[in-house]
Amino acid sequence: MNIHEYQAKELFEKFGVPSPNGMVASTAEEAVAAANAIGGNDLVIKAQVHAGGRGKGTFTNGFKGGVHFPKTPAEAGDLASKMLGQTLVTHQTGEAGRLVSKVMIAEAADISRELYLAILLDRETSQPVIVASTEGGMDIEEVAEKTPEKLVRQFVHPLAGLQPYEVRKLAGALELSGDQAKQFSKLIKNLYKLFIDCDCDMVEINPLVVTPTGDVLALDAKFGFDDNALYRHPEIVAMRDTSEEDPREVEASTFDLNYIGLDGNIACLVNGAGLAMATMDIIKHFGGDPANFLDVGGGATKEQVSAAFKIILSDPKVEGILVNIFGGIMQCDIIAEGILAAAAELELNIPLVVRLEGTNVALGKKLIAESDLAVIGADNLNDAAKKIVAAVKG
Ligand code: GDP
Ligand code: MG
Repeated sequence: MNIHEYQAKELFEKFGVPSPNGMVASTAEEAVAAANAIGGNDLVIKAQVHAGGRGKGTFTNGFKGGVHFPKTPAEAGDLASKMLGQTLVTHQTGEAGRLVSKVMIAEAADISRELYLAILLDRETSQPVIVASTEGGMDIEEVAEKTPEKLVRQFVHPLAGLQPYEVRKLAGALELSGDQAKQFSKLIKNLYKLFIDCDCDMVEINPLVVTPTGDVLALDAKFGFDDNALYRHPEIVAMRDTSEEDPREVEASTFDLNYIGLDGNIACLVNGAGLAMATMDIIKHFGGDPANFLDVGGGATKEQVSAAFKIILSDPKVEGILVNIFGGIMQCDIIAEGILAAAAELELNIPLVVRLEGTNVALGKKLIAESDLAVIGADNLNDAAKKIVAAVKG
């Protein structure tokens, strides 16, 4: 799960990570009021979307930039009206872009240096890693590619926690000394605590800045949280903005389904993550393109299967469906009942290949055979994949 920058600021404040004052606005009037409340004539207004690269982004109406620097509240309102309700395309949003329904107004900071700071989970070593660079404000992927020596990695032992010497090493790498090093050291300790306490899998500050008066501040924030730990954080779940997520995935999550939307046209309904991966692979192998990853799990109910099938059927990109079930704990008749329940509500006018095997397979096949559903039966994984690819192409 991700959150917006204005929400990240609330977490920063709670954990003691310094960042400029900011307020969120959903209308031009609110933007003017926010600018008045913040005061001064050095303001920044930023489109709030779950994607970076906003500064260099372009709105589909031609308006350039998701980050601007208004000098007056009236100008802030004017800029807000140009961004709100518009779609911003950045190098992270894909071509479709993201609808901007909120903007953040904040005090603009003066900048002497722009740094980069992130904490991530390193899969290889199974521990948190702090990534820092003196080359902040830029596309970090580009820094990694062109000047990898300018990226510093500091692994942190998950049980020992962040050590003072590790903090000093990072401050040195960022060329911070004296009072700035002190400020940084407090900031990174607090940020690390935030990362651990909130079960983040990513926090990225780009840029972390040093101001001309020597303050160290976070000017941008991107957060990712481990979905599997969200049950421990109702206050973070409350920040979820489902309008930023794939509607198919939002719907699936309300039924506790493991569903990830993809770009292809062959939908898969499978039990077990391994079998789901294998099914997607074999569809690719025979020249098709999966429309989703979907593992209905071992203990799925008829209602969950039916919900899964409805999500698949309501996806306009889907031109064929492959149901691949190896019943263990999952019973084939439950799958059949779920499919039939969904098909009773929504018209099925695309090819459906079903391969059932395992627990209660005879009953499952019987239920489908006795229905008036047009099903292409398949005996094994190869056969099923070939049949659905052919049906969609033909
Ligand atoms: P991003 O493009 O989505 O990463 O959005 P950022 O919040 O990082 O803003 C883009 C760029 O605008 C930053 O890299 C900074 O160079 C600049 N910027 C953002 N906030 C401020 C600010 O308060 N003061 C100044 N001077 N520049 C800012
Ligand atoms: Mg940024």
